[in-house]
Amino acid sequence: MAIEDDVLVIGGGLAGIAAAVGAHEQGARVRLVSHKQSTMRQASGLIDLLGYTPNGDGPVVDPFEAIEELPEGHPYERAGLDAVRAAMDMFDDATGEMYAGSHTDKNALVPTHGGAIKPTARYPDSAAPGIASAHGDTLFVGFDSMIEFDAPVAADHLAATGVPYETDGATIEFPGNLRDDAKVTRFAHLLDRDDEVAVDGTTMPVRTALAERVKEHIDGHDRVGFPAVLGDDNAAEVRAELADKLGASVFEVPMGPPSLPGLRLEDRLYEYLHEIGVRVSTGNPIVDVEQANGEIDRVVGDHTGREVPYKAQQYILATGGLVGKGIDSDREGVYEPVFDCHVPHPADRYDWFEDGAFDDHEFARFGVPVDTELRPLDADNVPEFENLRAAGSVLGGYDFPSEKSGSGVSLATGYAAGELAGDRV
Ligand SMILES: Cc1cc2nc3c(=O)[nH]c(=O)nc-3n(C[C@H](O)[C@H](O)[C@H](O)COP(=O)(O)OP(=O)(O)OC[C@H]3O[C@@H](n4cnc5c(N)ncnc54)[C@H](O)[C@@H]3O)c2cc1C
Repeated sequence: MAIEDDVLVIGGGLAGIAAAVGAHEQGARVRLVSHKQSTMRQASGLIDLLGYTPNGDGPVVDPFEAIEELPEGHPYERAGLDAVRAAMDMFDDATGEMYAGSHTDKNALVPTHGGAIKPTARYPDSAAPGIASAHGDTLFVGFDSMIEFDAPVAADHLAATGVPYETDGATIEFPGNLRDDAKVTRFAHLLDRDDEVAVDGTTMPVRTALAERVKEHIDGHDRVGFPAVLGDDNAAEVRAELADKLGASVFEVPMGPPSLPGLRLEDRLYEYLHEIGVRVSTGNPIVDVEQANGEIDRVVGDHTGREVPYKAQQYILATGGLVGKGIDSDREGVYEPVFDCHVPHPADRYDWFEDGAFDDHEFARFGVPVDTELRPLDADNVPEFENLRAAGSVLGGYDFPSEKSGSGVSLATGYAAGELAGDRV
């Protein structure tokens, strides 16, 4: 017996989650099945809509305005501007006070761990006091055991953008003798619990000890930016106490993988799915597909060697891109492994790449082409299946790292695909 629902979403990243919410809001009974963890855990937690145009112009000031100018075939053009706005509204509802940026259509410029300033549409509340356009002398504080955040370099990079305030950086030893390879969650949990740590022959709560070390460098700065490790369950409390002790506002700088803001976002969005009643099953891939009369009849999940069939009226493919293997390649070509959807690509592998690392590589845009109902198209531009839609980084026609559009495309196409699928049942 198959597990039956109205809409089955395959893939549990940002696109799959948005799709499940979109379909649920149309009154459909929805199930989301996902294999492994999504790229949300590696991503910064910033929700980039469009930071640069496909031609490389930018930073884009108003992403909504720029989205209207995108060429045919770009995922935003396929989904439509109304879908982008609706998806961002859904994201704001789901995340509540956890995220900032909804007060304006314009991009914020957020300092990131490499010292870059990122144009982004939504940013964690914990990063809000640090946005580059807000004035205030800024001190970045890094930890000597966390080499991926070099605070003096981040300060220099911010200064080089010409901001009209002081920027400085200090690297300190995190109190409590953490191992050099300590995970970000180890820092966060210490701060969450305000554990006692040994400092100079005595012990004191870690938040106090950290504030004492930072005070040596505060020198009148209005705000202090730390790598994003300031607590997990009690993050707001940790930031508030540090701010109080330092007499300055405190913010987090989004980090690379593994990313605490990404983990916090994933937790919140799964909690939201649970709250609205979407059924979720994780840990098992969809490995097979049965079709009838041009439609998907059912798909088969691999539950550690046991075949489990899932049946729905509508299906959404949200299995990710090249990073998550939602799109795969070998010497023969480029594939979409679940439904074997068409993935346009040059026959000669040498045409997939350019010589320079930062050149415009064809492979960056590999993915499934879709019509304006987000149905994957075959080589003759005919929908592969009437009841299949695709969303997120499995889609082709855009280069998210260059455009800074990764999370935005996943949210917009996911939500739109979900609404369309939900509406058809
Ligand atoms: C290191 C890194 C940093 C990034 N930083 C940013 C950033 O700063 N800002 C930004 O906006 N974007 C960023 N992105 C991009 C953004 O994270 C992605 O574009 C977006 O989250 C992709 O979401 P998705 O749901 O399409 O795919 P994914 O997150 O890849 O999720 C796909 C899901 O499908 C599951 N799946 C795959 N195959 C199957 C199957 N057969 N059966 C069932 N489930 C399956 C996978 O296990 C996974 O859970 C970053 C990405 C990376 C990798």
